[in-house]
Amino acid sequence: MRENKNEEEQHHFCTSAVSSKGCNNRSNVSAENAASLASMSDADPIAGPSPMNVESQLRPEHGTFICPECGKSFSRKDHLVVHHRTHTGEKPFPCVQCDKRFSTKSILTTHLRTHTGEKPYSCDKCDKSFSTNGDLNNHSRTHTGERPFPCDRCGKRFSRKSYLKDHSRTHTGERPFKCPICEKAFSTSSNCNAHYKNMHNEK
Ligand SMILES: [Zn+2]
Ligand SMILES: [Zn+2]
Ligand SMILES: [Zn+2]
Ligand SMILES: [Zn+2]
Ligand SMILES: [Zn+2]
Repeated sequence: MRENKNEEEQHHFCTSAVSSKGCNNRSNVSAENAASLASMSDADPIAGPSPMNVESQLRPEHGTFICPECGKSFSRKDHLVVHHRTHTGEKPFPCVQCDKRFSTKSILTTHLRTHTGEKPYSCDKCDKSFSTNGDLNNHSRTHTGERPFPCDRCGKRFSRKSYLKDHSRTHTGERPFKCPICEKAFSTSSNCNAHYKNMHNEK
Protein backbone atom coordinates (compact mmCIF):
# COMPACT_ATOMS: atom_id res chain seq x y z
CA MET A 1 0.00 0.00 0.00
CA ARG A 2 2.43 2.67 -1.19
CA GLU A 3 -0.49 4.95 -1.97
CA ASN A 4 -1.06 5.73 1.67
CA LYS A 5 2.06 7.85 2.00
CA ASN A 6 2.43 9.43 5.35
CA GLU A 7 2.08 13.18 5.17
CA GLU A 8 4.64 13.44 7.97
CA GLU A 9 7.25 11.73 5.77
CA GLN A 10 6.56 13.93 2.79
CA HIS A 11 6.88 16.90 5.07
CA HIS A 12 10.37 15.96 6.23
CA PHE A 13 11.50 15.11 2.73
CA CYS A 14 10.23 18.35 1.39
CA THR A 15 11.76 20.48 4.11
CA SER A 16 15.24 18.99 3.83
CA ALA A 17 15.30 18.92 0.02
CA VAL A 18 13.95 22.31 -0.87
CA SER A 19 14.28 24.31 2.32
CA SER A 20 16.28 26.94 0.43
CA LYS A 21 13.15 27.71 -1.61
CA GLY A 22 11.28 28.35 1.61
CA CYS A 23 8.91 25.44 1.19
CA ASN A 24 6.32 25.90 3.87
CA ASN A 25 4.71 22.54 4.35
CA ARG A 26 2.78 23.54 7.42
CA SER A 27 0.60 25.90 5.42
CA ASN A 28 0.38 23.34 2.60
CA VAL A 29 -1.00 20.72 4.94
CA SER A 30 -3.43 23.02 6.68
CA ALA A 31 -4.61 24.39 3.35
CA GLU A 32 -5.28 20.86 2.21
CA ASN A 33 -7.17 20.12 5.40
CA ALA A 34 -9.15 23.32 5.09
CA ALA A 35 -10.01 22.51 1.50
CA SER A 36 -11.24 19.04 2.34
CA LEU A 37 -13.16 20.36 5.33
CA ALA A 38 -14.77 23.04 3.19
CA SER A 39 -15.81 20.53 0.55
CA MET A 40 -17.20 18.32 3.31
CA SER A 41 -19.40 20.95 4.88
CA ASP A 42 -20.59 22.82 1.79
CA ALA A 43 -20.91 20.64 -1.24
CA ASP A 44 -20.97 17.23 0.35
CA PRO A 45 -24.56 16.24 1.13
CA ILE A 46 -23.52 13.21 3.21
CA ALA A 47 -21.00 14.91 5.45
CA GLY A 48 -21.83 14.87 9.10
CA PRO A 49 -20.65 16.58 12.26
CA SER A 50 -18.73 13.48 13.41
CA PRO A 51 -14.92 13.49 13.54
CA MET A 52 -14.78 10.99 10.62
CA ASN A 53 -11.34 9.69 11.56
CA VAL A 54 -11.59 6.61 9.38
CA GLU A 55 -13.54 8.36 6.66
CA SER A 56 -10.90 11.08 6.26
CA GLN A 57 -8.36 8.32 5.53
CA LEU A 58 -10.35 6.94 2.61
CA ARG A 59 -8.18 7.62 -0.43
CA PRO A 60 -8.60 6.87 -4.13
CA GLU A 61 -6.61 4.05 -5.74
CA HIS A 62 -6.29 4.22 -9.52
CA GLY A 63 -9.17 6.68 -9.65
CA THR A 64 -11.57 4.57 -7.62
CA PHE A 65 -12.26 4.57 -3.90
CA ILE A 66 -11.79 1.17 -2.28
CA CYS A 67 -13.56 0.21 0.93
CA PRO A 68 -10.84 -0.90 3.39
CA GLU A 69 -13.28 -3.31 5.09
CA CYS A 70 -14.69 -5.30 2.17
CA GLY A 71 -12.74 -4.17 -0.91
CA LYS A 72 -15.80 -2.83 -2.76
CA SER A 73 -14.87 0.00 -5.12
CA PHE A 74 -16.65 3.29 -5.70
CA SER A 75 -16.17 6.02 -8.25
CA ARG A 76 -17.06 8.77 -5.80
CA LYS A 77 -15.75 9.35 -2.31
CA ASP A 78 -19.15 10.30 -0.90
CA HIS A 79 -20.55 6.94 -2.07
CA LEU A 80 -17.71 5.15 -0.29
CA VAL A 81 -18.17 7.25 2.85
CA VAL A 82 -21.87 6.32 2.99
CA HIS A 83 -21.07 2.67 2.27
CA HIS A 84 -18.34 2.61 4.88
CA ARG A 85 -20.85 3.62 7.56
CA THR A 86 -22.58 0.28 7.01
CA HIS A 87 -19.42 -1.29 8.50
CA THR A 88 -18.89 1.18 11.31
CA GLY A 89 -22.60 1.57 12.10
CA GLU A 90 -21.94 5.28 12.41
CA LYS A 91 -25.06 7.47 12.29
CA PRO A 92 -24.05 11.11 12.51
CA PHE A 93 -27.51 12.56 11.74
CA PRO A 94 -29.88 12.62 14.72
CA CYS A 95 -33.59 13.39 14.34
CA VAL A 96 -34.60 16.45 16.34
CA GLN A 97 -38.13 15.10 16.83
CA CYS A 98 -37.33 11.62 18.15
CA ASP A 99 -34.38 9.47 19.30
CA LYS A 100 -33.58 7.96 15.92
CA ARG A 101 -30.24 8.49 14.18
CA PHE A 102 -29.33 8.12 10.51
CA SER A 103 -26.23 7.43 8.46
CA THR A 104 -27.00 9.97 5.72
CA LYS A 105 -28.69 13.33 5.53
CA SER A 106 -31.08 12.17 2.82
CA ILE A 107 -32.36 9.29 4.97
CA LEU A 108 -32.88 11.76 7.83
CA THR A 109 -34.73 14.14 5.50
CA THR A 110 -37.01 11.30 4.42
CA HIS A 111 -37.54 10.26 8.03
CA LEU A 112 -38.47 13.83 9.08
CA ARG A 113 -41.48 13.59 6.76
CA THR A 114 -42.95 10.94 9.06
CA HIS A 115 -43.13 13.69 11.70
CA THR A 116 -44.31 16.50 9.42
CA GLY A 117 -46.68 14.30 7.41
CA GLU A 118 -45.27 15.88 4.26
CA LYS A 119 -45.93 13.79 1.13
CA PRO A 120 -44.11 15.33 -1.82
CA TYR A 121 -44.31 12.24 -4.07
CA SER A 122 -47.66 12.00 -5.79
CA CYS A 123 -48.89 9.27 -8.09
CA ASP A 124 -49.57 10.44 -11.65
CA LYS A 125 -52.21 7.72 -12.14
CA CYS A 126 -54.37 8.43 -9.09
CA ASP A 127 -54.57 11.10 -6.40
CA LYS A 128 -52.51 9.36 -3.72
CA SER A 129 -49.28 10.90 -2.38
CA PHE A 130 -46.35 9.47 -0.45
CA SER A 131 -43.59 10.69 1.82
CA THR A 132 -40.84 8.67 0.13
CA ASN A 133 -39.94 7.86 -3.43
CA GLY A 134 -39.78 4.18 -2.45
CA ASP A 135 -43.37 4.21 -1.19
CA LEU A 136 -44.50 5.86 -4.43
CA ASN A 137 -42.62 3.23 -6.46
CA ASN A 138 -44.27 0.44 -4.45
CA HIS A 139 -47.64 2.03 -5.09
CA SER A 140 -47.01 2.65 -8.81
CA ARG A 141 -46.62 -1.08 -9.31
CA THR A 142 -50.25 -1.58 -8.31
CA HIS A 143 -51.07 0.36 -11.51
CA THR A 144 -48.43 -1.19 -13.78
CA GLY A 145 -48.57 -4.74 -12.39
CA GLU A 146 -44.76 -4.71 -12.40
CA ARG A 147 -43.06 -7.40 -10.30
CA PRO A 148 -39.37 -6.56 -10.04
CA PHE A 149 -38.51 -8.96 -7.19
CA PRO A 150 -38.01 -12.54 -8.41
CA CYS A 151 -37.53 -15.49 -6.04
CA ASP A 152 -34.09 -16.94 -6.72
CA ARG A 153 -35.33 -20.46 -5.91
CA CYS A 154 -38.50 -20.81 -7.96
CA GLY A 155 -38.61 -17.72 -10.18
CA LYS A 156 -41.95 -16.49 -8.85
CA ARG A 157 -42.05 -12.68 -9.01
CA PHE A 158 -43.29 -10.13 -6.50
CA SER A 159 -44.18 -6.46 -6.58
CA ARG A 160 -42.65 -5.75 -3.17
CA LYS A 161 -39.50 -6.87 -1.47
CA SER A 162 -41.46 -7.71 1.67
CA TYR A 163 -43.75 -10.06 -0.30
CA LEU A 164 -40.67 -11.83 -1.68
CA LYS A 165 -39.31 -12.12 1.86
CA ASP A 166 -42.58 -13.70 3.03
CA HIS A 167 -42.50 -16.07 0.07
CA SER A 168 -38.87 -17.16 0.51
CA ARG A 169 -39.80 -18.54 3.94
CA THR A 170 -41.91 -21.17 2.18
CA HIS A 171 -38.60 -22.50 0.81
CA THR A 172 -36.58 -22.21 4.01
CA GLY A 173 -39.41 -23.53 6.17
CA GLU A 174 -38.84 -20.66 8.57
CA ARG A 175 -41.94 -19.84 10.65
CA PRO A 176 -41.31 -16.75 12.74
CA PHE A 177 -45.00 -15.95 13.46
CA LYS A 178 -46.66 -17.80 16.33
CA CYS A 179 -50.32 -17.97 17.25
CA PRO A 180 -50.57 -16.55 20.77
CA ILE A 181 -53.34 -19.04 21.71
CA CYS A 182 -52.21 -22.46 20.40
CA GLU A 183 -48.58 -21.63 19.55
CA LYS A 184 -48.93 -22.91 16.00
CA ALA A 185 -46.18 -21.33 13.85
CA PHE A 186 -46.61 -19.59 10.49
CA SER A 187 -44.28 -18.32 7.80
CA THR A 188 -46.17 -15.05 7.26
CA SER A 189 -48.01 -12.70 9.57
CA SER A 190 -51.07 -12.76 7.30
CA ASN A 191 -51.34 -16.56 7.53
CA CYS A 192 -50.98 -16.29 11.28
CA ASN A 193 -53.68 -13.62 11.45
CA ALA A 194 -55.99 -15.67 9.24
CA HIS A 195 -55.51 -18.70 11.48
CA TYR A 196 -56.20 -16.63 14.58
CA LYS A 197 -59.40 -15.22 13.11
CA ASN A 198 -60.65 -18.61 11.87
CA MET A 199 -59.73 -20.75 14.85
CA HIS A 200 -59.89 -18.55 17.90
CA ASN A 201 -62.12 -15.60 17.14
CA GLU A 202 -65.25 -16.02 19.17
CA LYS A 203 -68.34 -14.80 17.41
ZN1 LIG B 1 -17.27 -2.14 2.59
ZN1 LIG C 1 -37.72 11.23 14.13
ZN1 LIG D 1 -51.73 5.60 -7.91
ZN1 LIG E 1 -39.84 -19.18 -4.51
ZN1 LIG F 1 -53.92 -20.85 17.11
